[in-house]
Amino acid sequence: MMKAAVFHGADGAHKLAPMSIEEVPRPRPGADEALVKVAACGLCRTDLDYLKGEGPTPKSPPVILGHEPAGVIEEIGAGVHGLEVGQRVLVTPLVPCRNCDYCRTGYENLCPTMEILGATRDGAFAEYVLSPATGIFAVPDNLPLEEAAIITDAVATSYHALYRQANLQPGQTIAIFGASGGVGLVCVQLAAALGARVIGVGRQIWKLKTAQELGAAEVIAVQDVPKVDSAIRKMTGGGVDIAIDATGVPAMIETAIRSTRPGGKTVVVGLSYGKFEVAVNHLMWLERTIAGSKNYRIVDLPKVLTLVERGVVDLKRVISHRFKLDEINEAYQMLDRGEMLRGIVTP
Ligand SMILES: [Zn+2]
Ligand SMILES: [Zn+2]
Repeated sequence: MMKAAVFHGADGAHKLAPMSIEEVPRPRPGADEALVKVAACGLCRTDLDYLKGEGPTPKSPPVILGHEPAGVIEEIGAGVHGLEVGQRVLVTPLVPCRNCDYCRTGYENLCPTMEILGATRDGAFAEYVLSPATGIFAVPDNLPLEEAAIITDAVATSYHALYRQANLQPGQTIAIFGASGGVGLVCVQLAAALGARVIGVGRQIWKLKTAQELGAAEVIAVQDVPKVDSAIRKMTGGGVDIAIDATGVPAMIETAIRSTRPGGKTVVVGLSYGKFEVAVNHLMWLERTIAGSKNYRIVDLPKVLTLVERGVVDLKRVISHRFKLDEINEAYQMLDRGEMLRGIVTP
């Protein structure tokens, strides 16, 4: 048996449904799987949607949430090679089919039948998590497992948005909307590491201060500036090359698009189920581009690990709160109130 935080479904009132701490059977690995003893698992805003019943529900509950785990291999299936019991690892929540055209060409993030740990399969808000061996990666000795945990979502997702989807180039200007959560603050660091001029946009001053310390050249608190997009166009002599939206808030996405220069690109990495409006001439006449960014390509994970191991991305500054499994409901209430950068649970 093992202890787990089990989600039994939302209550339909758009309020956070509590997870219940239960004793559940400890899973056994199949031939191609491994069982990982969870050392840490990141808290993510995506879970807030599940807990509030907004957007698509994960697999029909009960389900164990938690999709940013790292830990130590406890048990391996008979057909697994290249992994050992006792090895320190991180686990990607992405479980693509590996057979469709997307998977076969490296775009597993777009696999139409992709399963996700902590959504369509049991995740890591538990003492143990089961994963296909192909989703498990060794963590270098000098990297704490707490930090490795948030690599599998916050860091890898940011890497994909900036380097793959935005195709950010050295020396470009970039505005990051929502430079305050896990993804936003990692985007700030990755962009600054490339030598880009980073403008961080957010609301809470203490979070924007952190963005500045992590590499944002300038920050804008949205409540202090009447027209954020014109302020950014003024600061940059006509608009940024790239805007990243890590908020998913429609009005913010509209502002992000208007902040880009002619020919500029906006990449939306924040999730919501809202709709935004763009004037057609702002697209056609100014040749602006809007792109989405979903998860990441699993082939990029080793590079992402290297960036963290080498200190290009400082995760100590991004992890602001730690919780025990029993405290998980309070933790999500805090996340919902916007009181943390990135939090982790250590079962
Ligand atoms: Zn997530
Ligand atoms: Zn596939």
